[in-house]
Amino acid sequence: MRLRPVVGLLAGLVVMSSSAAMAQGVSASDAKLHARLLTLDTHLDTPANLERGGFDIMRAHPEQGPFSQVDVPRMRAGGLDGGFWVIFTPQGPLTAAGYAASRDAAIGRAVKIREMVAANPQTFVLATKADEAAPIAAAGKIIVYQSIENSYPLGEDIGLLKTFYGLGVRMASPVHTLNNQFGDSATDPVKRWNGLSPLGQAWLAEANRLGIIVDGSHASDDVIDQLVAQSKTPIILSHHGAKAVFAHPRNLDDERLKKVAASGGVIQINSLYVAPTTTTPEFRTKQGALRARLAKWSQLTPAERTALSKEIADLDTAYPNWRASFEDVMANLLHVLKLVGPDHVGLGADWDGGGGVKGMESVADLPKITARLRAAGYSEADLQKIWSGNLLRLLTQADAYRESLATAQGK
Ligand SMILES: [Zn+2]
Repeated sequence: MRLRPVVGLLAGLVVMSSSAAMAQGVSASDAKLHARLLTLDTHLDTPANLERGGFDIMRAHPEQGPFSQVDVPRMRAGGLDGGFWVIFTPQGPLTAAGYAASRDAAIGRAVKIREMVAANPQTFVLATKADEAAPIAAAGKIIVYQSIENSYPLGEDIGLLKTFYGLGVRMASPVHTLNNQFGDSATDPVKRWNGLSPLGQAWLAEANRLGIIVDGSHASDDVIDQLVAQSKTPIILSHHGAKAVFAHPRNLDDERLKKVAASGGVIQINSLYVAPTTTTPEFRTKQGALRARLAKWSQLTPAERTALSKEIADLDTAYPNWRASFEDVMANLLHVLKLVGPDHVGLGADWDGGGGVKGMESVADLPKITARLRAAGYSEADLQKIWSGNLLRLLTQADAYRESLATAQGK
């Protein structure tokens, strides 16, 4: 069913107020407060779903279980105004062919984001500046900032970063789960560069020059130390956890979290790597098979769809420890808040990229975070900073550095 834009907007508002109020543990006043806040998440991997057959960003996908966590109806229900939509590329071989294939994939992903916006101009607006977010939300539309997770697709051509900047990218991370040409990964057992490579140093300088926020998530401790020390503007950890809560190499120890904050940076709390989980090879095989069938959703009969939805739900029940819980996310969030204060914390939950937890299955559950933070004593002003203010401050600073260079060059 296609609704006229105004009707669609009103329907969205009705969904937002009723479901937010109904979300477990969320009072009517907390739901109201949450709806007032400008809310942004720094790690929406949803663009990956845009390439999946039968996925429609404009419709809710609760029947797809953990395989779909973000769409317009559930963003409205959870009062999420937008965020950074990720151009993610998995790490491949460091060869000319690997670079070319990943470059094409990343550009394809960026095109998908633009197509989503172009196809639904009444719903989405591309944004590149910090001060664009509030007016877009006030108009009842969804904010689409773009980020790069893993700069591998740039190959050895740092100049390509400018191409992605031109497409609207305003945040980028150097590496993903394995070392690459720019530096070491937190989860690669071998340290190849002991931090950034020489090309990684050039990458950092170019990101700063362009006004792109530098993202240290997935990078090794050495890389994060060097980004903090050398970046001209404060860094972000776009989807991150605390090692003191869960000792995983992907998470950061308290001393480093404090250093990131002391340099003006912001730690966006993840919902992946927030607690020990158990995923057996058997579970992963079954999950992969269900994901493959889901990719052909549009070709399935109604009966096949019902059966697949049930199998997805059953897998979740059969392997209860494959993901963390809402309490685990809150433990990380409250720990980092206590450690560095509300000026240096935000949210980036790796939605549609492995995040989503028991008790916070999709973005529709986000008002629960506001309710819990309010119960923990955080003020509305604190909440506004956590939900977007801190992140937008970094974007402003990155942009100001770019402008300062232009001024210095007499441009
Ligand atoms: Zn990630």
